[in-house]
Amino acid sequence: MPIDLGFLEPIDDTFDFSDITLSRLGGLPQWLNPTSPPTVDRIRCGECNQPMRQLFQMYAPDDEVEGAYERLLHVFVCGTAGACQRAGWTKSVKVLRAQCAEALERERGEGKESCVVCGSKAPFRCAQCSKASYCSKEHQALDWKEGGHKGACNSNSDGTATETRQKFMFPLMEVVSDAEPTEDKPLKNVKIEEIPQTMDESELAQMGIKPSKETYQKTEGDRFFLKFQRRLERDPDQILRYTRNVEEGEGDVTLWLSEHNRLEKKDVKNCEGCGGERTLELQLLPTVLSHLGEWGLYNDWGLINIYSCDKTCEESLKDGYAEELVWHQEVSKEGVGYATDKPEPPKKQAEQKEEDEDEE
Ligand SMILES: [Zn+2]
Ligand SMILES: [Zn+2]
Ligand SMILES: [Zn+2]
Ligand SMILES: [Zn+2]
Repeated sequence: MPIDLGFLEPIDDTFDFSDITLSRLGGLPQWLNPTSPPTVDRIRCGECNQPMRQLFQMYAPDDEVEGAYERLLHVFVCGTAGACQRAGWTKSVKVLRAQCAEALERERGEGKESCVVCGSKAPFRCAQCSKASYCSKEHQALDWKEGGHKGACNSNSDGTATETRQKFMFPLMEVVSDAEPTEDKPLKNVKIEEIPQTMDESELAQMGIKPSKETYQKTEGDRFFLKFQRRLERDPDQILRYTRNVEEGEGDVTLWLSEHNRLEKKDVKNCEGCGGERTLELQLLPTVLSHLGEWGLYNDWGLINIYSCDKTCEESLKDGYAEELVWHQEVSKEGVGYATDKPEPPKKQAEQKEEDEDEE
């Protein structure tokens, strides 16, 4: 099977939020079993300890594994404006896998056991209206102050404040998939001086590049970046590459943005549950950043690679969720064509307010 590419599509009123077969960017998580969300500790950022937000969820069943007739991946990132990512990424991205042996009955709008702000398990309810549920006191306070619950609580509405709560989430969009075209597009966009000196003719020929003599002499740069760029040209709108179904024998399908900080196959940690190998399941590309609102302005990534247990084993599930391995590759500083300098994030409202008050 070829690689599946993921593309974003806007949603409309017909989008059935509770249909887990619809992969999506942003929004609140829709759990495989809505009555059993993960606890908030499973989705806290390892840097700042705040609950993270869902970046995307993907329907990725494995019909060869009995227990994975339905299977979901949820990817979370820290919602702070860049600070945790700047600190190093390893703790501020997490992926949870859930799966089950047969389709669960679910009803539209189900999910009262989950926090209205982040979607994790919600042991608390608003004491006044008992309509809004929360994972923690901090999310209850946040929803009261900034989520609009103060106005909606005890009103005749149903206690939801859906629109003002959108700011706690990434904008919801559907992720649809399509097979990657098998051939490179005819060469047009790769500038000749970008071809690294180290690449030999057969490698270039594979990419449809015919080098000339000058080509070799002028060059510096990163062969991995060139391959990446060339491969993305097949369909520049892609935001993710799903590689789990690619057959063995097709070789390593991982794309890299640069030669630095790659994860070698031998260094991919084995599954904590079954001890078996993990393989690249998908790559999330920087093309998605422009769809993530303000957050995307202050955060940056080259690639987010997700490696999952080959057997998608049940031993690794804890309370229904297994944490899989995330690898992040920075944008290459010497890479070509990508802006690497993101603006500093604005100050938080609270800090800004204090400063204003000092000035008075
Ligand atoms: Zn954080
Ligand atoms: Zn929460
Ligand atoms: Zn209330
Ligand atoms: Zn395993």
